[in-house]
Amino acid sequence: MNNFCPKCCSNSFTEKKEFRKINVRGCIIEYNDLFNICDDCNYEFDSENNPDLLKDTVYPLYRKYNNYMTPEQFIKLKRKFQITNSLLCKKLNLVSKELLSFEKGCLQTKKLDEVLKNFFYNIGEY
Ligand SMILES: [Zn+2]
Repeated sequence: MNNFCPKCCSNSFTEKKEFRKINVRGCIIEYNDLFNICDDCNYEFDSENNPDLLKDTVYPLYRKYNNYMTPEQFIKLKRKFQITNSLLCKKLNLVSKELLSFEKGCLQTKKLDEVLKNFFYNIGEY
């Protein structure tokens, strides 16, 4: 939690909301950014209400626009069919690190997305 400005240590700052655009893999994502501005030195820093902009805000939008599987969907499907990551890695020739970072909210590659969607599609889901 940020209780003071990381630049000048002032504890007086204002939370702001601003409409911004970011380019993710050539796709322009528009989002509402939440950040703090220091009242004393005007330094901009992350708001504690928006701890991970990419994972919490931008990547979910990217997935929505590009019809990608979400980490939540992935985890739910694995549970439903009692499939482990090591089994997926073996069957689909994947790297477990890649699956783990996807589960934690990192943006999956297009290839990983297709491979996983195909897999679940073939067992009658997705
Ligand atoms: Zn400051």
